[in-house]
Amino acid sequence: MITMKDVIREGHPTLRIVAEKMTIPLNDEEKDLAKELLKFLKTSQDPELAEKYELRPGVGIAAPQVNVSKRMIAVHVPSDDPEATEPEFSTVLVNPKIISHSVQQTCLPEGEGCLSVDREIPGYVPRHKRIRIEYFDIEGNKQKKRLKDFPAIVVQHEIDHLNGVMFFDRIDPDNPLALPEGLEVLGSEEQ
Ligand code: ZN
Repeated sequence: MITMKDVIREGHPTLRIVAEKMTIPLNDEEKDLAKELLKFLKTSQDPELAEKYELRPGVGIAAPQVNVSKRMIAVHVPSDDPEATEPEFSTVLVNPKIISHSVQQTCLPEGEGCLSVDREIPGYVPRHKRIRIEYFDIEGNKQKKRLKDFPAIVVQHEIDHLNGVMFFDRIDPDNPLALPEGLEVLGSEEQ
């Protein structure tokens, strides 16, 4: 299973290169990796297992973060609704592409974190509030999906990893906590 030992950290060159487009259908080794990435996220969100295996909780991980420079990401976003039995969005996305997005931007109030970054980096990370994506699932079926708010932010963070981009690249270095015009802080519009 994937543990934090397998996760490469900032400074590793693989995190800065553009990952390779994958050939569909995936081979068995690639399918295994897909399942392992998703399993890592689920395990990391289980407090007991996370402690046992010393995993940092994560909602998304990209193949380049385990030093495989291919265009594959996994996301596991739990539902806001405590009654919900299904997660909000949980899947592996192969060759994911943002095909359109809102003009409206959003950002997380507490900034972003990353399994490949072992320090806190304060600052707002502007993201599209809504995106439409296309990707292939593990079985090679083409999928389309509309996402907004938190799941959209997670997917944008992970797609960035496929392009060698780190979240802190998007923080204004001169004024990390300045809110540019049109940038809403996620959650603030509901209060
Ligand atoms: Zn990350």
